[in-house]
Amino acid sequence: MKNKAYNPFEAAQKQFDHAADLLELDQPTRDLLRNPIREFHFIIPVRMDDGKTKIFRGFRVQHNDARGPAKGGVRFHPQETIDTVRALAMWMTWKTAVLDLPLGGGKGGVICDPHTLSLHEQEQICRGWVRQIFKNLGPNVDVPAPDVMTGSQQMLWMLDEYETLTGAKNPGFITGKPISLGGSLGRKESTGYGVMITVREALKEMNIEPKDTTASFQGFGNVAQYAVQLYQQMGGKVISVACWNQEDGESYTYRKLEGINYAELISITDRFGGIEKTKAKDLGYEILPEEGWIEQEVDILIPAALENQITQENVSKIKKSVKIIAEGANGPTTNDADEILNEKEIFIIPDFLANAGGVTCSYFEQVQNNMNYYWEKDEVLAKLDVKMTAAYIAVSDFARTHKIKTRDAAYIIAVDRVAQACHDRGWV
Ligand code: GLU
Repeated sequence: MKNKAYNPFEAAQKQFDHAADLLELDQPTRDLLRNPIREFHFIIPVRMDDGKTKIFRGFRVQHNDARGPAKGGVRFHPQETIDTVRALAMWMTWKTAVLDLPLGGGKGGVICDPHTLSLHEQEQICRGWVRQIFKNLGPNVDVPAPDVMTGSQQMLWMLDEYETLTGAKNPGFITGKPISLGGSLGRKESTGYGVMITVREALKEMNIEPKDTTASFQGFGNVAQYAVQLYQQMGGKVISVACWNQEDGESYTYRKLEGINYAELISITDRFGGIEKTKAKDLGYEILPEEGWIEQEVDILIPAALENQITQENVSKIKKSVKIIAEGANGPTTNDADEILNEKEIFIIPDFLANAGGVTCSYFEQVQNNMNYYWEKDEVLAKLDVKMTAAYIAVSDFARTHKIKTRDAAYIIAVDRVAQACHDRGWV
């Protein structure tokens, strides 16, 4: 995370304040929605493989559950902070609301670096996290999911711990599970595909064919991988992707001007989305510095890594050719940079709309768990397309009708729905 002074929660609150002003929300509603309803901080002691005990710190923040159980992922990251988790929880509330899902917003985290942990140690962290918080989680209370550096295996360990503690099978406790144990087909593709569904709709409005466009990505983890896959199926050309290199402790951009080969890159990528540098070089990729991805002469930029990546410092590097920025990550653009992008008239598909495909499919996973009846992949992906397209069109129409930015339109729709639910329940 670049700028040390950057505080994601303050940034998220500032965005909310702006939406609250536009909606002319009353003071109690502002006070309610500006902060999480509940948050939990705890320690997770883990007996490491070398026999020594290490203490990890874990969090769960439930920002709002007026529209349904809190919902959101659990991140494992060495630079995790409570303010990052608070911001992400708040963005989850707006995300489920803008998609009109019957869910609220939450987020969890553990300060740890899975690159340096064995699978057994990760399992202990997952189980320890659930033991500390399980009384405040549940299918009708708060439903965790994967996020940065967690995936289906971590979800399964968490589910197993929960079911052991509660003494009953309850697959709807968590989403993003393996397909063989209550997961949904299409869940792993859903966030990346969702990003591209919104890009497809934006291009349609601009009368541009995807096959006539090029894109540059930041990140090559779960979100970016499937976004690249669908974009290439749509005929688009990806010329560069940037990702973290654990060995060197820095990020690089891998570029091939004639277009990257998806299968080839995947074959040299680790489970955290890190590309092997030497192998990439052998395959003819140019290795550019970290911020290479942002300064490419492309039509579409897709930040799909972490928050605080497009900042006041690097926003000027964005080329005039860029027409769309689709935020695959949560909070990749700082508020200052956002203003500059608007002056440049770049069309932004804001994070909590663009990357809502994951939680939408998590919702489908829960529905299937409740019915104990599982859909075919085509059915899941078709439903995902319907939900994402409808949400995109609602935001885009609202922005056009009221002559406002898409981010403001998405905020107005989402915050209004949550505020309404809080009023209807008599909370404010
Ligand atoms: N972690 C994902 C997100 O930020 C998915 C959350 C979920 O499926 O609940 O949207």
